[in-house]
Amino acid sequence: MLRIGVSAAFQPPELNHPVFPGRRLLYLEESLGHWLLSHGVAPFLIPTTHSRSPVKLKDLVQQLDALVLQGGTDVSPRTYMEEPLDPAWVGDFERDQYEIELIRVFMEQGKPVLGICRGMQLLNVAMGGTLYQHLPSQLETAGQHFDPKHRYKCVHSVSFEIGSRLQKLYPGTKLFRVNSMHHQAIRILGQGLQVEARGDTDGVVEAISVKDRPEILGVQWHPEFLPWADPTLLQDQLFLDPRPLLMEFLSEAKKRQHKS
Ligand code: MN
Repeated sequence: MLRIGVSAAFQPPELNHPVFPGRRLLYLEESLGHWLLSHGVAPFLIPTTHSRSPVKLKDLVQQLDALVLQGGTDVSPRTYMEEPLDPAWVGDFERDQYEIELIRVFMEQGKPVLGICRGMQLLNVAMGGTLYQHLPSQLETAGQHFDPKHRYKCVHSVSFEIGSRLQKLYPGTKLFRVNSMHHQAIRILGQGLQVEARGDTDGVVEAISVKDRPEILGVQWHPEFLPWADPTLLQDQLFLDPRPLLMEFLSEAKKRQHKS
C-alpha cells in the first residue's frame, strides 16, 4: 500500500484551549484523509522534527512515497520577502518554513508532491515566486475566488493551458469548473515552474507543475472537497472530476514506491 505523507495544519497555542491549553496542535482536515483513503492509500501526518531527535526529516521521508500539502491558512508575506499589507494577512510563517523543508526533502528524494490551495501557493514560493496578498485589492480584474458567506459553494470556470499535463490528463476538456476558497494567488511564478491552468475570465493561476518533473504539481482548488463521494454530482459535466488527478499522482508515486 502506498504511504502518503500529509503536511500538518498548525493550530497555534491557545491559553484558553479546553483540552491542550498553551500547546501547538498539528492536525489533518478530515475530508483530505478520506479522499486519500478512498483511493486505497495510507495517509500519514508528518510532524515537525526536532533538532535533538535522532530521526531526521529525511529519515521520515524515506519511509513515504509522496507528499500532499494540505490547504489552510495564508502563506506569510515574510516568506517571500514582503511585509503584510494588512495585519489580517500575516499568515503562518512557521508553517511555511516547515512545509518548504518538506517540499525540499521530498524533491531531493525524487518523490511526488501535490500541493492543494495554500500548498500550491507555497510550492510557488518555495521555488522563488511571490503571491498577491489579497486578490480583491491587488488585482482589480480578478473575478470572485472567495465567498465568505458560502465558503464551499464558490465556483468559477478554469481552462487548461495548451500542451499542459492536466490538459493531457483530461482529454477533450476545455473549460471546467472548480471550487474556490482563496483570497491569495500566484503573482510571480517561481523558477522552473509552468502554469497548467488559469481562471477563464481573469487569468489567475489555478494550477502549476515543475518543468520536467511530472510528479510535482499544485492546484488552487480543493479536489478533496469536490463531490468525489457522490456519483450523481460527478455527472455534472461542469465540475472537474478530481479522480484522474489523484490517480495520476498516485501512479507516479507507485513507480517510485518504497519496497520494504
Ligand atoms: Mn480560484
